Amino acid sequence: MRVIVLIGAPGAGKGTQAGVLAERLGLPHVASGDIFRAAIREGTALGLEASTYIDRGALVPDEVTLGVISARLSRPDARAGAILDGFPRTRAQAEAFDRALAGRGNRVERALYIEVGEEELVRRLAGRRICRSAGHVYHETAKPPRRPGRCDIDGSQLEQRDDDRPETVRARLAAQLAPMLDVVDHYRGRDVLAVVDGDRSIDEVGRALLRALGTAPTAR
Ligand code: AMP
Repeated sequence: MRVIVLIGAPGAGKGTQAGVLAERLGLPHVASGDIFRAAIREGTALGLEASTYIDRGALVPDEVTLGVISARLSRPDARAGAILDGFPRTRAQAEAFDRALAGRGNRVERALYIEVGEEELVRRLAGRRICRSAGHVYHETAKPPRRPGRCDIDGSQLEQRDDDRPETVRARLAAQLAPMLDVVDHYRGRDVLAVVDGDRSIDEVGRALLRALGTAPTAR
């Protein structure tokens, strides 16, 4: 099982790159935030609990999050592994995840940290737009849809996530950068960390990530 962890602040391009890697490596893209948002849309018990944290820019408790990820990795499409996006978000989650994987004779193969400066993150997040039906991601300037306000893939309306509004963005960054750097340190200590400069084009970052995984990027 190939367990690959992508680490990056909100706005670092983690979700976009996880999609690229998932397709290239034939592994599912497992995004904790997407799982929570789907549960909220469906109105499940998990969704109700998660929304009380997400709505105020806080992290969902570690036990809840680890349970959600473990359940997801037990599904048949993750038998060969997964690209994790947004998890682990704290050192405690990373440690608990190591234990859970070790229990199945597994480990994190590689943790890829996409590094982007803080001001650039705020600029990127404030321009991010998400499609209402499936969460496809756009950016007002960096990745605009072909038709304004509409998803290229499914035509649904594009929206700004409540937690991408500038006032919430700064609160999210303040709350998440320190724990994220703890996670980076955790994997550095485990000798599985690769740091990639995220202040480049989507293609360049994608190629650098594939090289860090020992996979030759395809020529385009
Ligand atoms: P994201 O889409 O990754 O930005 O996640 C959206 C929100 O979901 C976050 O602001 C958190 O409230 C929650 N969340 C996602 N992943 C985690 C995690 N690993 N641990 C705790 N909370 C999480």
